[in-house]
Amino acid sequence: MNAIAVNPGRKEVGQVSHPKPKLARAVEVKFRMLEVGICGTDREICRFDYGSPPNGFEHLVLGHEGLGEVTEVGDGVSTLRKGDLLVPMVRRPCADPACQPCRAQRSDFCTTGNFVERGIKEMHGFMTEEVVDEEPYLCKVPDALRDVAVMMEPLSVAEKALEQIWRIQDRLPWLTADQFRLRDGAGKNAVILGAGPIGILGAMAFKVAGFNTFVYSRSRKPNPKAEIVESFGVPYISALDVAPEQLAERIGNIDVVYEAIGTAVNSFDVLRVLGQNGIFVFTGIPGFPKPHLTFDAELIMRNMVLKNQVAVGTVNASRQAFDWAIRDMSEFMRRWPDAVRAVITGRFPLGHARELLLGKATGIKNVLQIA
Ligand SMILES: [Zn+2]
Ligand SMILES: [Zn+2]
Repeated sequence: MNAIAVNPGRKEVGQVSHPKPKLARAVEVKFRMLEVGICGTDREICRFDYGSPPNGFEHLVLGHEGLGEVTEVGDGVSTLRKGDLLVPMVRRPCADPACQPCRAQRSDFCTTGNFVERGIKEMHGFMTEEVVDEEPYLCKVPDALRDVAVMMEPLSVAEKALEQIWRIQDRLPWLTADQFRLRDGAGKNAVILGAGPIGILGAMAFKVAGFNTFVYSRSRKPNPKAEIVESFGVPYISALDVAPEQLAERIGNIDVVYEAIGTAVNSFDVLRVLGQNGIFVFTGIPGFPKPHLTFDAELIMRNMVLKNQVAVGTVNASRQAFDWAIRDMSEFMRRWPDAVRAVITGRFPLGHARELLLGKATGIKNVLQIA
């Protein structure tokens, strides 16, 4: 069958012929790929910045943002059956018995570094026709979400960020256990840095969680991303018009910053204006190499202490984050179906993969339509 793969040894990207997978164990599920999203990670793998083939292969099949339809299930599978839609998780645990996070099904916190990731690290991805995987890593998706479910993986970034925020803010001593269990952002201000897919979907997730949400991004209005963001009631503020200090003045206490730009310079510029008892969540991974950066570290340190601030990084993602993404995506579609659909710029056949991966980045979210 056809697959889109990268060969880091030969520095090649393109279509390869890949063996069809077969069910081998009772917990396995076979599914045909319907759609695969393309993101900056894929593009960086195609620049050979990182990305490694599985043992015994020269190539790595790309793709980690998938949507599939079940075609066959093993005898031990109980939550999925033929015809179901599913979104596969990306990361798989390491084998070390001493890795507590992996043994607790939280490979997103793996301590050995020996986890694998579909389409990224030592395990083939989803830019192909058929895939076999194990039931615990496959999340069933309601049929009603079919045309947006390919964005579940990027949304899971925000879901894990929210999980971390709720857990971290358990440090605020006056919150009662009951208040805390509500996981409610009401009365709190969240700034989403960036208006790419991670930022837009994040803005939806923070708004659904009750935060007064703002998107702070570079491009001036009018632009298509700002239009989508404002269509679901989140103000879009251009960093070219409004400096971070003015942003803080306008919003009031910035309780949360959700970084979705992947560059340090703008992130640290906003960290300077994080509010009292605030949290700054980093989700982006700067490409390399990058020049040294000068920022106001004395001021940031002073603020972090005097304002009880937390800066935290988060890498994707747990089963829970995917399940929350599916729940929230249903809510987004109930409230703002047009805005959610507008995040997908275009759908293209597998044959267009090379130019989408190697050409100039365009639009918001581009998707390969496989079946
Ligand atoms: Zn991605
Ligand atoms: Zn591990």
